Amino acid sequence: MTAADPHRLAARFPAGFRFGVATSAYQIEGAAHRDGKGPSIWDTFTNTPGRVDRDVPGDRGAGHYDRWRDDVQTMRELGLGGYRFSLSWPRLFPEGVGARNPAGFDFYRRLIDSLLEAGIEPHVTLYHWDLPQALEDRGGWANPDVAGWFGDYAAAAFEAFGDTVPTWATLNEPISMWVGYGMGLFAPGHRDARLGRLAMHHAMRAHARGVQAFRASRAGGGGAGSGGPGGGAGVGGTAVSAGAQIGIAVDVWPRHPETDSEVDRALARREEETSFRFFLDAALRGEYPETMVDELAAAGLSDAEAAPAPLEPIDFVGVNVYSRSIVSADRPGAVWWQPGDPHPGGNYLSNGQEFYPAAAREALAVVREEYGWRGPVQITENGFGESVPGGEPAPLDDAERIRYVAGFLEAIADAVADGSDVRAYYLWTLMDNFEWAAGYSQRFGLHAVDEADQHRTPKASARWYREFIAAHREARHDTPRHAGDAK
Ligand code: BGC
Repeated sequence: MTAADPHRLAARFPAGFRFGVATSAYQIEGAAHRDGKGPSIWDTFTNTPGRVDRDVPGDRGAGHYDRWRDDVQTMRELGLGGYRFSLSWPRLFPEGVGARNPAGFDFYRRLIDSLLEAGIEPHVTLYHWDLPQALEDRGGWANPDVAGWFGDYAAAAFEAFGDTVPTWATLNEPISMWVGYGMGLFAPGHRDARLGRLAMHHAMRAHARGVQAFRASRAGGGGAGSGGPGGGAGVGGTAVSAGAQIGIAVDVWPRHPETDSEVDRALARREEETSFRFFLDAALRGEYPETMVDELAAAGLSDAEAAPAPLEPIDFVGVNVYSRSIVSADRPGAVWWQPGDPHPGGNYLSNGQEFYPAAAREALAVVREEYGWRGPVQITENGFGESVPGGEPAPLDDAERIRYVAGFLEAIADAVADGSDVRAYYLWTLMDNFEWAAGYSQRFGLHAVDEADQHRTPKASARWYREFIAAHREARHDTPRHAGDAK
């Protein structure tokens, strides 16, 4: 399998490039109701019949809350340079605001410390979709107050963990707002276009508040009495360290028009403007695309209510990339790529998604050329999930995943050659876990997780990734951070 030869491929990445894995709290932790954690919208949603595959809720995640030490050890054995994970807001603040849950803070403190001890850099995402249910009961992301709630939560996280966490992301894929409030497919399950647009807008206002709180904390002014957005959540903790960085993880999923017709091109553009371009415009320019200005007006917002937050500069752009879509005015739903409806000539994976690694190069070109972003970029997610209907075991010989990852790494190396300052790659994901509405029917892990006892077993891809990382270290003469770590 030359295409996936780890040595040749690894040599294409510069020294210091960080290879890691990404996860999210709700998908892996489990312990949904333990040690003082409050319920999140995903706890509610997945325990509602008809919402997720086989009606198996996500309460158990992948058992990480109990097995986190072993999981860190596994990451160490893989030779990872970084680990991207998210904090569960309701584990830290069971009601979203107000009283904190000390056990939650202790859990993440221990995790972060043990990552650092293992020489693995923590990359913390503040929000990966698990809003406290108590806040949803007050309107959730459709309530403009959410920006302030998020700002306070972010400030508390910076105070608690900022001294040791070098990289932060405010939100993961804020398009989830549309899927959860507009389409009803994700928690909280509202199917209301107006709510969906409001949630997207408030998400980016929240993002700006988070960045603002970060800067206040980095300047040493965080905490109670600072007058910043985090003032109310102050704990007299530490400040964010001077070199720490903040960004946002956006799902940059290119849309290609099926034909060169004006209608197809306009449709593709519209699809992008109502998804990743909205978030990039807000985060990098402090403005919204015209399409979304119209959508927010149609949702009944006055100009003042619909105004984007003033630009809060970020330090890196996080790009999640999985595939592309081909859009055509002639197709039902205007999109080709679903299982059973592939685009003729496309190269399809067994899960029905198009294998299109050039999406990574294109996504990075959009950020670099169209947004003029010449600062650091991180690939905050990329990975492949087998469809495993009925909860059967995942294949351990996962050559398809290796081919997928190698293909994307190749395209990312091309983008680096094009001039993108990519610093890190976080493979989605360490182990099979709870895949949102798809439940346990899609397996994205380098390790299989037994559904009954949650025991982990490495797949072929875990061995491949370990070899790839070791080859990179060798090619770049990087010494392992801890004796005995490297193979
Ligand atoms: C999300 C992850 C998800 C992955 C695979 C991303 O959109 O951030 O939570 O598991 O894709 O579908």
